[in-house]
Amino acid sequence: MIHIRQLHKSYHTESLSLHVLKGINLDIEAGEYVSVTGASGSGKSTLLNILGILDSYDQGDYHLNGSLIKNLSEKEAAVYRNEMIGFVFQSFNLINFKNALENVALPLYYKKVSRKKRNIIAMEHLDKMGLRDWSKHLPSELSGGQKQRVAIARAMIANPKVILADEPTGALDSTTTLEVMDVLTNLNREGITTIIVTHEQSVSDATNRIIHLKDGMIEYETRKNNGVHATIQPVNF
Ligand code: ADP
Ligand code: MG
Repeated sequence: MIHIRQLHKSYHTESLSLHVLKGINLDIEAGEYVSVTGASGSGKSTLLNILGILDSYDQGDYHLNGSLIKNLSEKEAAVYRNEMIGFVFQSFNLINFKNALENVALPLYYKKVSRKKRNIIAMEHLDKMGLRDWSKHLPSELSGGQKQRVAIARAMIANPKVILADEPTGALDSTTTLEVMDVLTNLNREGITTIIVTHEQSVSDATNRIIHLKDGMIEYETRKNNGVHATIQPVNF
C-alpha cells in the first residue's frame, strides 16, 4: 500500500535549512495497524503529512497504492487524497459553527453529493461511532472523545483506504484515549490501513507494529507477535 525509499525532507527558512527526514525506507501493506513514535521534533508529523499528501518531499520515492506521489499539482494531490486518505488530528479540526452531522457530511459536499444523500450517509457514520443522538450538537457541546469520534466519522465518510492519525489522543484523558483507540482498532479490523503518530505507549501498544523515529531516521521497529512487541532492526537498502 505504502512504499517509501530514501525519503528526505528539509524545511527552509530565510536563514537556515533543517534536515528533518534523513533517508526513510518504509513499507506498509494494506490492512496493517502501525504506529509511529519518537521524541518531539523527530519528524513524526512531517512523515505523516507526506504520507497524507499534505506536504511534499525533496528526495526519494513515495508510492501509494501503486502510484508515484511526487511533484503533483494541488489538484492531482487532492484527487489522490480524497480517494485514499482519511486524516485525524489531535485538535479534531472540526468546524465550530457546524453541527456534528454537517461536519461529518462536509467531504461529501465537496464531492457534490446531494444534501439529502450526504446527510443519510453522515448519519450512518455517526451512528457507527455511537453518536446518533448528538448529530445536531455543535462541537462546543461535545466532550473531547465525542469530538474525536465525529472527526473519525468525517475521515471515514469518503471510504478511504488509509487512516492517518496525528496524536489522535493527545488532547484526551486516559479513559477517553482507550475509547478512541477502540474505535481505531475496530476500523483497522474492518480492513482499513491505519497509521497513528503518538508518543503515548498505551496507544502504540495497541497497534501491531511500532516504527521508532529518531532524528529523522527509523531507529528500529517492533512487531507484535502473540500479543507481545518484539524488536526488528531496520533493513538497509
Ligand atoms: P514531531 O511531529 O515528531 O514532533 P515534526 O515533524 O513536527 O516533529 O517536526 C520536525 C522538525 O521540523 C522540528 O524541529 C520542527 O520544528 C520542524 N518543522 C516542522 N514543520 C516545520 C515547518 N513548516 N517549517 C519549519 N520547520 C518545521
Ligand atoms: Mg508532531
